[in-house]
Amino acid sequence: MKDKSTQLIHHGYQAPAGFAAPAPAVHKASTVFFSNCRELRERDWLDKQAYTYGLHGTPTSFELEARIAALEGAKHALLLPSGLAAIALVNQALLRQGDRVLLPDNVYGPSRAMARHELQAWGIGHAFYDPMAPEQLALTPDVTLVWLEAAGSVTLEFPDLPALIQGIRAHAPQALIALDNTWGAGLAFDAFALGVDVTIHALTKYPSGGGDVLMGSVACRDAKVYERLALCHSRLGVGVGMNDCELVLRNLPSLPLRYAAQDQAARRIAQWAQAQPWVREVLHPALPSSPSHAAWSALCTQAAGLVGIRLPEGTTRETVEAWIDGLQLFHIGWSWGGPISLAVPYHLETLRSLPNSPKGWMVRLAIGLESADDLIDDLARSAASVFAGR
Ligand SMILES: *Cc1c(COP(=O)(O)O)cnc(C)c1O
Repeated sequence: MKDKSTQLIHHGYQAPAGFAAPAPAVHKASTVFFSNCRELRERDWLDKQAYTYGLHGTPTSFELEARIAALEGAKHALLLPSGLAAIALVNQALLRQGDRVLLPDNVYGPSRAMARHELQAWGIGHAFYDPMAPEQLALTPDVTLVWLEAAGSVTLEFPDLPALIQGIRAHAPQALIALDNTWGAGLAFDAFALGVDVTIHALTKYPSGGGDVLMGSVACRDAKVYERLALCHSRLGVGVGMNDCELVLRNLPSLPLRYAAQDQAARRIAQWAQAQPWVREVLHPALPSSPSHAAWSALCTQAAGLVGIRLPEGTTRETVEAWIDGLQLFHIGWSWGGPISLAVPYHLETLRSLPNSPKGWMVRLAIGLESADDLIDDLARSAASVFAGR
């Protein structure tokens, strides 16, 4: 069973004897019973065949961990209450006072804030790098963790991952490499085959697929790295609810279909947007005109359903907001991967740390499961009233 579409449907869950059904059961527990004191004394919560306390998992969360590990191409996975908590776990488990972590300048925004506040306060340094210039990575001896993101948040630059990973291995053999795999969702490219050590995935997005669950995962292949992550996970007490696991388990089998559908619709919308006179630039790595097209097409045939639309210099906040407020199908809100399309305006000046970063207003569209024709009509109708005369 190589294909992920098949793996996500056929699973190893053992139903009670004499009962078989498509879905695994939802087992909830804080207390887990032991049959005697010796069993209590000897049971190891790191052993995922054994149960110790609800916080460390039930058959339901173990099943979801196993499926997420398969999706990511990893051996081990841990579940956390959000994608952001997964990022925090990697930082807390793998960084020590005096270390430095490198972040791409287009990193997920709250990850930047965590480096500036919590990590800084704990004596952990950080620096931002330009993901499109792998030769400029400042790999000093104190760098013990490098984050990658492909494509980067909001502006969707797809970096040359093999070049970044090779550079880090050559010049900072002490560093672990962590990738935020939310955009690729385990489907667009194989992060572990490229040589990363750890992935995080905001299961809130595609794996949940409903816009109604918050969950994150951390995955890895190496047993020692897993132990560091799992011990920290248990000490921090960041478990997940089994009803949330149930929702993600229920939606995982349709993940490849939803990902492909949102990809197709997003590309149609990106192509349409490129032809509009009031658009300055469309940000999407599958567009042949994108500066990251070569790096994306070297690894991927698929892309997530996100499109960035940059608006011309001199566009005001009022104009951008009027366009978005005039949309009827697109809702205004964070996140993506759900059935309803979303739009959010960003002022690029507020997103970046490095000089010479892109400026001005852009809108990020997260494409849902509506018809692309209807979404284009919606975008065009509102634009006609706001950008008239351009
Ligand atoms: C949404 C997102 C996260 C955080 O996930 P939450 O579950 O919302 O905390 C992390 N990384 C990326 C790239 C995301 O898009």
